[in-house]
Amino acid sequence: MTHDVVLIPGDGIGPEITEAMRRVVEATGVSITWHVEQAGAGVMDEYGTPLPQRVLDAVSKVGVAIKGPITTPVGTGFRSVNVALRHAFNLYACVRPCLSLPGDGSRYHDVDLVIFRENTEDLYAGIEFDPGAPEVAALAGLVDQAGLRPFRADSAISIKPISEAGSRAIAEAAFEYAERCGRRKVTAVHKANIMKATDGLFLRTVREVASEHPSIAFEDKIVDAACMGLVQDPSDFDVLVLPNLYGDIVSDLCAGLVGGLGMAPGANIGTSCAIFEATHGSAPDIAGQDIANPTAEILSAAMMLEHLGEAEAAEQIRAAVRATLAEGAVVTADVRRALTGSAEGAAGTRAYADAV
Ligand code: ATP
Ligand code: MG
Repeated sequence: MTHDVVLIPGDGIGPEITEAMRRVVEATGVSITWHVEQAGAGVMDEYGTPLPQRVLDAVSKVGVAIKGPITTPVGTGFRSVNVALRHAFNLYACVRPCLSLPGDGSRYHDVDLVIFRENTEDLYAGIEFDPGAPEVAALAGLVDQAGLRPFRADSAISIKPISEAGSRAIAEAAFEYAERCGRRKVTAVHKANIMKATDGLFLRTVREVASEHPSIAFEDKIVDAACMGLVQDPSDFDVLVLPNLYGDIVSDLCAGLVGGLGMAPGANIGTSCAIFEATHGSAPDIAGQDIANPTAEILSAAMMLEHLGEAEAAEQIRAAVRATLAEGAVVTADVRRALTGSAEGAAGTRAYADAV
């Protein structure tokens, strides 16, 4: 059987790491028709937008995509192309496993946790007002009337919408995953002691979903304490469920527990589409030099193969990555540096992919 997959190479290191990913996927023998679609800074001149309609059409027709990171050119009306894609397909669940691999260069060795980040709400909704905007003045008036603490009229404002439905959707995704995959515990991460309305609603909703899944242990942690706990003893965590912004930050923290951004894969799951992508951004500082670590993108492809029902090929890829890192002879500069303090003797993106 042949699978159709939309491949969006993206910007910065995107083309290099997606090419490496594609070669690794093809080596499994799984038959895939790649529908390559360009998005990002490179298509601005041709289409006048970093996210052409043809990309949206292709993803909506095929239903499965894997992408490299996309840079959002300034002055396009897009806050973020990545966020726009998540909104266009209501990709409400961002799933990011963080699993220690022997030889990943991290100081931790038994990390095995999975992040469920709400992907559509929170401060990422992009509802913002600059100082002087009439909305700021209006809100200041309302706050005054309510007798609440006034805020300065020269403030900028970002709105943080968190809904019950959005919180329920991500919580159900986390608990269903925990049940399906034999996980023991879900931890809700929040700041409900301060943001009683928004994070309070998130926490109450996750708690409610927890009560519908009695076989999975549940706890909640305040985000600051969770960060401390994660670096102190990551084995205390299993599945984490977070609103969007904390999910973004804690994802990078957890990537650091397993060897860095080059190691952390991810999936954006919606009701009708799924888009797979590494946790990291376009890393313009190392683009085009054949030094980026493609592991995060390759492991994202393993998640995609699982989603496509190709569990055996997914496991083949994970085993190949594990073996290559454990051997340690052919690894990229980030891993080499973490292991030895110097990038000397590191392999390039292509050579590493070949080894895998
Ligand atoms: P964005 O705003 O898109 O997140 P960014 O400037 O934050 O972009 P990231 O890609 O998130 O950049 O990464 C931060 C740094 O981590 C990069 O500058 C790069 O040095 C390193 N990095 C990220 N991804 C990789 C990778 N795959 N391999 C090696 N190093 C990486
Ligand atoms: Mg970043």
